[in-house]
Amino acid sequence: MNSALILLQKYWKHQSFRSPQEQIINAVVNNQNVLALLPTGAGKSLCFQIPALLKDGICIVISPLIALMEDQVNSLQKKGIKAIALNSKYNKKETIQAFDNLRFGNYKFLYLSPEKLQSEYILEKISQLKINLIAVDEAHCISEWGHDFRPAYLKISILKNILPKTNIIALTASATPKVMEDIVNNLLLEDEDVQIFKKSFFRDNLAFKLIKTENVLENLKQILLKINEPVIIYTNTRKNCINISNYLNNNNFKSNYYHGGLQNNEKLASLNNWINEINPIMVATNAFGMGIDKSNVRAVIHTNIPNSIENYMQEVGRAGRDGKKSIAYLIFNESSIYEFKNFLNKGIANTQFCKEVYTKINQFYQISPSEFSETIHAFNLQDFCSTYNLPILKTFNAFNIFENENIIEIQQNINKKSTLKTIVSSSYLFEYEKRNPNLNTILKVILRNYGGTFEQFIPISETLIAKKLNTSKPQIIKLLSQLNFDKIIIYKKADTNSQLKFLVPREDHFVINRISKNIESRNKTKIKKADAIIKYVANDKICRNVLLLQYFGEENIEKCHICDVCISQKTNHQKVDFKEISNKILILFDTANQLNSDDIVYQLTYDKKYIVKTLQLLVEKNTLQLTSQNKFEKVKS
Ligand code: ADP
Ligand code: MG
Repeated sequence: MNSALILLQKYWKHQSFRSPQEQIINAVVNNQNVLALLPTGAGKSLCFQIPALLKDGICIVISPLIALMEDQVNSLQKKGIKAIALNSKYNKKETIQAFDNLRFGNYKFLYLSPEKLQSEYILEKISQLKINLIAVDEAHCISEWGHDFRPAYLKISILKNILPKTNIIALTASATPKVMEDIVNNLLLEDEDVQIFKKSFFRDNLAFKLIKTENVLENLKQILLKINEPVIIYTNTRKNCINISNYLNNNNFKSNYYHGGLQNNEKLASLNNWINEINPIMVATNAFGMGIDKSNVRAVIHTNIPNSIENYMQEVGRAGRDGKKSIAYLIFNESSIYEFKNFLNKGIANTQFCKEVYTKINQFYQISPSEFSETIHAFNLQDFCSTYNLPILKTFNAFNIFENENIIEIQQNINKKSTLKTIVSSSYLFEYEKRNPNLNTILKVILRNYGGTFEQFIPISETLIAKKLNTSKPQIIKLLSQLNFDKIIIYKKADTNSQLKFLVPREDHFVINRISKNIESRNKTKIKKADAIIKYVANDKICRNVLLLQYFGEENIEKCHICDVCISQKTNHQKVDFKEISNKILILFDTANQLNSDDIVYQLTYDKKYIVKTLQLLVEKNTLQLTSQNKFEKVKS
């Protein structure tokens, strides 16, 4: 048996490789550069993990999300394989310790966020290690054509300077020809041989169904009533996410919500409830998903038009990984397309707008013309926008452009959590409490809830303390600041600002004129992507699979025969049996007094237009009648 297969069985307990895992592993072991384009759930992680185990040394894995890294590191550690994920939680001391372990401790994997590569120190430390492979996971983040563009991904190629001989494997589940090209170009693989492995994104167990309705929530309910297994519902805003989840829970469904604004522990709790199927319905924004590996998701339901086809494919790809029949619903109403376009247009930052924002950033930080500011400035988008009365979304997009064009650099802040340390003895503290009864309770809460504050800085949550004391967060911050002032504790307040650094001197319009072509082409790309998804939504003639896969550059695709378009074409060819449909409709009224047309459509498998037609016939024959609420009921004989 070959050694890769032995590892697969020994550590992963899988019997055999899926195609094309083995070919990829062979290529990587033979020091080739590889681009692997396989759908979500195909098993990409193995493609770099097994070669790394077969080779001497350490594999660097670049990954965009802390949660993803921790997930993979945990699962490697469970197998007894040494791996470490360096993320923003590590302080200097821990980082030094980590690199010592990597150097002398038989570690096989180092997971890094791309931002870490901007640190000279980290690069220096990496160059002292024996690196056997560079794996770039979720490699579409490198391309603005991808759906999760991350500027820091563009700088991964810096690794080639310190590791010129190490081969690279880039992996993604989302690759249009454009994204592929960007990956190859940006990872500087263009002059070298790259082996490309591509597996069709066709999923024969996934049925695409679009539902146009005036009542999205009602439809959602009807769908959920028929499914007893886990479901993911995607929606476009955090607010919608919470509202839909509350609505479902009020209607006796069991749901959780998940969005990017939640605290890590809240995210984890929500995720766990869903994974353990305590609450099998997850309502989420697109912050939920990358790396989610649950096999029995029966349906992915979009209640808004997704941002792009790439996003959409990635999200629906989470359904039916166990191979059983699953459904991708997209529920929308007449105004959705209009709102979608409107939202898009509102966010487009054109050259003119970029000039305005650029000038204002310089004013904001009082940079004089032609000055090259090397200061690192505190930055908060909300403050900046309200100072100049700028629209947030559009301004955010302008900043995105500046970052991608290396005009400024923004780094998310390091001190995400407040910390504190007690710097007096417990007897002194006791005296102090006696003298300051108003601070007595807060000190008690801190000591009771956070151990070790006498020895070191401990992360705290002002919100939690406020809850325990039945007061507000600002009040707690005030009290902690008082304790800090009195030199009882050192209180380091969380700093949620980001940091902004200028990368070029201020030359006003010249700076923006230089990139105006890029700005316009970026915006065009955005619009093209939106057009593609609108075209997909408006389509009722071409098999949905065919349309989606064509977008990813696949050719000669067979119809799926299970999407709503294919089904409706099938029924078109059949002779419609109105008698049969009307019997089926009338049976529904055995268990319900009144039903609206949507209720009926969802309980039957016929094409909507035939059901509507039959309902008309039944009303004409005076078998059914319409109530004032537009519901159908049986005419009493
Ligand atoms: P991707 O990164 O392509 O989305 P993952 O690497 O996360 O996929 O793998 C998805 C799931 O498939 C994991 O649970 C993994 O253990 C499983 N898997 C991978 N390869 C195989 C295989 N050859 N046989 C059975 N299961 C596999
Ligand atoms: Mg993966």
